[in-house]
Amino acid sequence: MQSIPSPTDAAALARRSVARDELARHLDDFLNVRAFKDAAFNGLQVAGRDMVSHVVVGVTANKALIEQAIAMKADALLVHHGLFWKGDSPALVGYHRERVAALLAHDINLYAYHLPLDVHAEVGNNACLGRRLGLSPTGTCGEAGLVTLGRLGVNATVGCTVLAAYVARHFGRRVTLFSHPDRPIRTIAWCTGAGGSLLGEAIAAGADAFITGEISEQHVHQARESNITLIAAGHHATERDGVAALGGHLVQRFGITYQFIDVNSPV
Ligand SMILES: [Zn+2]
Repeated sequence: MQSIPSPTDAAALARRSVARDELARHLDDFLNVRAFKDAAFNGLQVAGRDMVSHVVVGVTANKALIEQAIAMKADALLVHHGLFWKGDSPALVGYHRERVAALLAHDINLYAYHLPLDVHAEVGNNACLGRRLGLSPTGTCGEAGLVTLGRLGVNATVGCTVLAAYVARHFGRRVTLFSHPDRPIRTIAWCTGAGGSLLGEAIAAGADAFITGEISEQHVHQARESNITLIAAGHHATERDGVAALGGHLVQRFGITYQFIDVNSPV
């Protein structure tokens, strides 16, 4: 016997999908994409089916994640690292062609948000890192506010090895401590992902420590010579929480469902 949905149920069912373009407009507005100069193209990168009710979210639009989205019968894939970057060749060849072809063959929408998803006050990767580590933000610095400043408790002071162990515990992985100053740590600056190039902003802001995802060779020397603690906790590891938080926001806003899929990268 089939039951007839009540008007309330019918309204709830009707809310459980959102039009592809409405979702794009909402994400663009919510993340304020027009305010950013970015190497990434932010927004709907590949158009698929008209309606979206289930979204797979992940860090990077790689082939394994796309295959998972296909297996989960997702209507959309929402990522931090999309497929189209300024300066890259636009030619659809090799692995790039395979990724786009798989999305098109299964009519899956691809939405990608880079810097706007790093700095958003609620779902941004930086905000999420602050929450994960229990840091109280006090402000931002750097271009587009990419570096967040904060403290580990009001009067907390820690040493660099204690802080590195604390970060490792909260991310569930090994982290790398690149400098060992005696300077006690009260003010902490952080920027998820490949934030090494923003170390100078943290130094200029007077931070005692800088936590980021990934750095380059020269940043080790810059940190040692500037007497600042430098911790790299992984590019991938520090950028998992933002897309997951954004998926949670879409559940609240549209009543659609999402699933976070972690295709791990050790970097
Ligand atoms: Zn990144």
